[in-house]
Amino acid sequence: MSGVLVVMEARGGAWNRMSFETLAAGQQLAAGLGVAARAAVVGSGVAGLARELAGYKLEKVYAVSHALLGEYTADGFAAAVEALVRRDGADVVLFPHTYQVRDFAPKVATRFGRVLVSDATGFRAEGGLVFVRQLFQGKLNADVRVSGDGPQFASIQAGAFRAESAEAGQAAVEEFAPELAAGTIRQKPEAPFRESARAVDLTAAEIIVSVGRGIKEKENIGVVEELAKALGAEMAASRPICDNGWLPMERQVGSSGQTVAPKVYVAVGISGAIQHLVGMKGSKTIVAINKDANAPIFEVADYGIVGDLFEVVPALVAEVRKVRG
Ligand SMILES: Cc1cc2nc3c(=O)[nH]c(=O)nc-3n(C[C@H](O)[C@H](O)[C@H](O)COP(=O)(O)OP(=O)(O)OC[C@H]3O[C@@H](n4cnc5c(N)ncnc54)[C@H](O)[C@@H]3O)c2cc1C
Repeated sequence: MSGVLVVMEARGGAWNRMSFETLAAGQQLAAGLGVAARAAVVGSGVAGLARELAGYKLEKVYAVSHALLGEYTADGFAAAVEALVRRDGADVVLFPHTYQVRDFAPKVATRFGRVLVSDATGFRAEGGLVFVRQLFQGKLNADVRVSGDGPQFASIQAGAFRAESAEAGQAAVEEFAPELAAGTIRQKPEAPFRESARAVDLTAAEIIVSVGRGIKEKENIGVVEELAKALGAEMAASRPICDNGWLPMERQVGSSGQTVAPKVYVAVGISGAIQHLVGMKGSKTIVAINKDANAPIFEVADYGIVGDLFEVVPALVAEVRKVRG
């Protein structure tokens, strides 16, 4: 059976949100190639998650379940996904580019004699399938064409597609219990890594004002906090600000911080390094304030103000206060 198969990720009964970005990517790719999209959830007792997934526009949903998949192991997941791909016969298999996927998906691809095109940001059907991935911290986009027959394997970068654009529909659920032997699983899982409880949930904020190294000193952060207050926004920051302890780590946006998609994201004195962009480029409207007209942040900004933040921000605060009181 041809088609695009999306392997979703869930842990402890909860979806990894990037899975739905990959689902949207899978649906778009399938539509572009004129083939069907299917999706799978892998674990133990995943019937409920599979039913949720069945509410999307898919040809079929697989509930891949086995007692040995209750806790993640690279050997267990690689064997289960390999068996699934052989059964399904998809031409293209997509994964979200999570830490877990980085661990086991290359092994699956290798078992088919293929490679995993990792961290893809897009694709085109152009005399075959072309994946796009970024090089040199986003300075170059590379087209990657995999030679030979399918299946082709790729993981999708966080924030490259919008989870909300995954199309709803109705799909049948097929249960699949792969044959797994305890003796073939060499890893012993330990208690999963838990991030410290977050006092702020930036993912729920409608407006975010984010500050970068352009602020120069901790004492100046208040200038940008005034704007956040005036707009009723949450404060966020680029990594150097949190590394310096000027704002708490939980306010960091980017590849090693939170991924956010608010209605409005105001980036103040942030250059727009790829590690920052992946955490915020899904925002509906991006406003950038930077004194360097060539700063990469302007490439993703809907509105750009080229100027000194120490002049621009207080002027903006005054204007906002005129309107909002
Ligand atoms: C593995 C890895 C993970 C990373 N994860 C993250 C992450 O999660 N999040 C993250 O943000 N970064 C992350 N980074 C770091 C990232 O590569 C950048 O170094 C960082 O995002 C830069 O932060 P910045 O834009 O605040 O600072 P800079 O790049 O120094 O930019 C400062 C900007 O301020 C502007 N500016 C200066 N003065 C003014 C002024 N007076 N008025 C207006 N503009 C001014 C400058 O023109 C410049 O564009 C990561 C890096 C690595 C290697």
